[in-house]
Amino acid sequence: MQEWNKKLDLLIKSRTPLILIRSREEERVEILIKQALKRLPRVRLATWDFIEGLRGVLNSEGLGARQPLAVLQWLQNVDSSMPTILLAKDFHRFTEDTSISRMLKNLSSEFRKKPHTIILCACDWIPSSELDDCLTILELPLPKENEIKTLLNKISTASDSNLSRETLEELTHACSGLTEIRVRQVAARALAQRGKLSKEDISEILEEKQQAIARSEVLEYFKTKASPADIGGLDALKLWLDQRHQAFSDEARDFGLPLPRGVLLIGPQGTGKSLTAKAIAHSWSMPLLRLDVGRLFAGLVGASEAKTRETIQYAESMAPCVLWIDEIDKGFGGDARSDGGTSQRVLANLLTWMSEKSSAVFVVATANGIDRMPGELLRKGRFDEIFLLDLPSHQERFKILDLHIKQRRPNLKIPIETVVSRTQGFSGAELEQTVIEAMHHAFSERRELLETDLILAATQLIPLSKTAKEQLDFLKDWASSGRARPASLKIT
Ligand code: ATP
Repeated sequence: MQEWNKKLDLLIKSRTPLILIRSREEERVEILIKQALKRLPRVRLATWDFIEGLRGVLNSEGLGARQPLAVLQWLQNVDSSMPTILLAKDFHRFTEDTSISRMLKNLSSEFRKKPHTIILCACDWIPSSELDDCLTILELPLPKENEIKTLLNKISTASDSNLSRETLEELTHACSGLTEIRVRQVAARALAQRGKLSKEDISEILEEKQQAIARSEVLEYFKTKASPADIGGLDALKLWLDQRHQAFSDEARDFGLPLPRGVLLIGPQGTGKSLTAKAIAHSWSMPLLRLDVGRLFAGLVGASEAKTRETIQYAESMAPCVLWIDEIDKGFGGDARSDGGTSQRVLANLLTWMSEKSSAVFVVATANGIDRMPGELLRKGRFDEIFLLDLPSHQERFKILDLHIKQRRPNLKIPIETVVSRTQGFSGAELEQTVIEAMHHAFSERRELLETDLILAATQLIPLSKTAKEQLDFLKDWASSGRARPASLKIT
């Protein structure tokens, strides 16, 4: 928090007239401002809310209750010898009123000469463009692990919980990503139920986080049992992922390795990109959060940025986790002229977060092509690696067909060499489809599946590689110039 405190101090000292602190933690904001004023002793704090009016100012207590304009007029008349910060609670709700927004604009220029500052606190509010120009925005990050630990430790001592160091660490970890109020509520509930904090609270906290994600508009908590053993081929990618998994350990940190950032998987439809995202999460024992990029851009103009912030906070709160950004090319390939630059801004926010993040959120982005992909995403250093998932080779088709047959008919042993040879250009999904079709045929005749069923099913399916040949060749050409690594060990 030290950095954040310094930023706030600087804004106050440099006479910033209007500050918007982006947070839903009003109480914590007030505490942080009070702490700042201990460092800046000449300045006083006044708070205002609609019901109570002004607080903290001798002889003016209660002023401006139910009258937001009156409190601004009061501050306008406060003498320069009394530098004042006004924390105006819920004030963003009144800015639709012309007189309020006019007054705020007037004060924002007047207060460059006077030592007063108005602080608003809101999380999702989208200011009008004129007000936006007058506001200086300061994001308040969620409490850091050491702050949560201090808080839990205090509660534990006060309630004689006798937490071991290990349990305190685990509880702190589970609470990361929660607001301070939420942490207090969780602790209060635990105390009411069991009279102390304990290991048992961890699963409840995790459950609570999942519920919060379920309420989120853009994130989906994805339950999966897929594992790398369900993926036929893609051996180079699997090997690489195995190495990255190891890099999440404390041992890797001690060795000096950075936390893995993420991977971009590009390939035609049905080549196993989604399957890989699911397998990573399951085999790494991390929750999988799927981001619906389409929903990120749905709704009001300006709402996408707020949703992006929320998504990042949720993902960080679930860390270590896998954040799966599906069809990233479709979401961010928008035309700046048609969406007012929203997709560019949201992408910039995501990229900044990805390059600066210190949390164990592994991003798996998937895309079908590169033609609509913003160049920034493909630049080296954004992701740890970019992989091209090509159509499966002969050997890989063998493995995929074998896998899908075994998944459905575990004890069946049939030759599949001919069908493997006849399915060149089929994707993994098309091979799976071939197996299902062949099984339908065999079942309709109430007999065991034969290779001839598979061959027949394969001849009836027109693979995407035939209809989308040009697109595929383009993708391979692009990747072969060294911009993406092949996901398969050998491309034939
Ligand atoms: P899209 O671009 O259309 O989203 P995708 O590349 O994400 O496609 P998946 O959804 O992963 O493709 O694949 C669909 C299904 O095809 C998988 O659930 C799996 O059953 C099968 N499949 C694809 N590739 C493989 C593979 N390499 N090994 C085994 N099964 C595969």
